[in-house]
Amino acid sequence: MITLTFHGAAGTVTGSKYLIRVNDRQVMVDCGMFQGRRSLRQKNWEPMPFVPAEIDAVILTHAHIDHMGYSPKLRKEGFSGPIYATPPTVEIVRMSLVDAAHIQEEDAEYRNRKGLTRHKVALPLFDSKDVEELHDQFEAVPFGDWVTVSKEIRFRLHIVGHVLGAACVEMILNDGHREVSILFSGDIGRYGNPLVHNPSPPLQTDYLVCESTYGGRIHEPEDPYYIFSEIINDVIKRKSILLIPAFAIGRTQQIAYLIHDLIENKRIPPIEIHIDSPMAIRSTDIYVKYADYHKVDICKLGGKKCILNGQHVHLHRKRKSSKLLNRLDGPAIIMSASGMMTGGRIMHHLINRLPKSDNTLMLAGFMAEGTLGRKIADGAKTVYIHKQPVEVRSKLVELHGLSGHADYQEILHWLEPLSNATKRVFITHGEESQSAAMAEHLKEEKGWDCHIPVLHETVEL
Ligand SMILES: [Zn+2]
Repeated sequence: MITLTFHGAAGTVTGSKYLIRVNDRQVMVDCGMFQGRRSLRQKNWEPMPFVPAEIDAVILTHAHIDHMGYSPKLRKEGFSGPIYATPPTVEIVRMSLVDAAHIQEEDAEYRNRKGLTRHKVALPLFDSKDVEELHDQFEAVPFGDWVTVSKEIRFRLHIVGHVLGAACVEMILNDGHREVSILFSGDIGRYGNPLVHNPSPPLQTDYLVCESTYGGRIHEPEDPYYIFSEIINDVIKRKSILLIPAFAIGRTQQIAYLIHDLIENKRIPPIEIHIDSPMAIRSTDIYVKYADYHKVDICKLGGKKCILNGQHVHLHRKRKSSKLLNRLDGPAIIMSASGMMTGGRIMHHLINRLPKSDNTLMLAGFMAEGTLGRKIADGAKTVYIHKQPVEVRSKLVELHGLSGHADYQEILHWLEPLSNATKRVFITHGEESQSAAMAEHLKEEKGWDCHIPVLHETVEL
């Protein structure tokens, strides 16, 4: 018997966890943390509806927290098998989890100190020790190499764009009676991204698990270079600070590359760029190391050492120098994490910059429901940061076209090579309306049998 259970990214974009069971063998595809509103985050603490010790292996599609951030917890509860991912993904996951553990620890410590917990003692979901113990379980798998987990389950990874090292998973399952194939899309990237490769065409499959972050949307066909140059030129004219919340891995490098390109092409004058994220600085080293996994040799741009180490770029590793940025006068750009403004150094910049009408906040990317980023994007006039009210008076600008996620037309384009032999499609990783729209598009275009699973639903393949 072959089953698939959706333990995350069902009815929401976070917490990706798909459990494949073939007879008594089990493999989990992605092991993500739930993020966003409290009711979702709470799910990270719920008892697991599976036995971690019985899972033979975990496969990670890519290094975003909502796809891998639950792994230390899984280990803590008994999982001892290998965790497979592409070489850059393994390195980024290891690095990000160290950071995630610190955030967990700091958050618990802060809650205990300020008495903000509903519990007697606030605990981190996992700590640095849990992450350290996980270190040796990772196994790097290059794109295209078959991995046999057991005689029932084998898989290989294919390029899917999105972010450095991101993969979709082709899996062959055999329960002794029949063989079925299933493809997990992971997060599908966009075509023509300046840094990341285009998604590779998918191979024929019986079943498909397809993400739907933008299942009902089309990205505006605007030129991000033009819009971004307008934004920066305005900031320079007004001697303002441009604050950019950006994911440390992927988005920061992409934006730094864009700014570099705009300066090189004289579409903007040189401007000071402050990168205030130790993780963004470290993750650039991984971009340098895995040059084959992306399009641009970011070390040899314009003869400079690196896009994050150019003549206009200032790196802030220490907390003290991060705080000093609060006194910085414009024109300048400050880029900091986290991208959806859920924690990290960006929070003190927001407290400092949001109330100032001469500052500019740029939103670039998806903001999940319940995040501070979404509230600001939705036009909140006052937001709460660390339970303190903060007025939003700064100028708000948005830069589209940088999204790491394909829109529905790009997903349909990616799926073009698949014939109607695909038996069934499971639409996941989307807010309800987006998944429903994606299902409609796939029914219409491909005539596929589409199903939108609910959380913890099990289907037989
Ligand atoms: Zn992702």
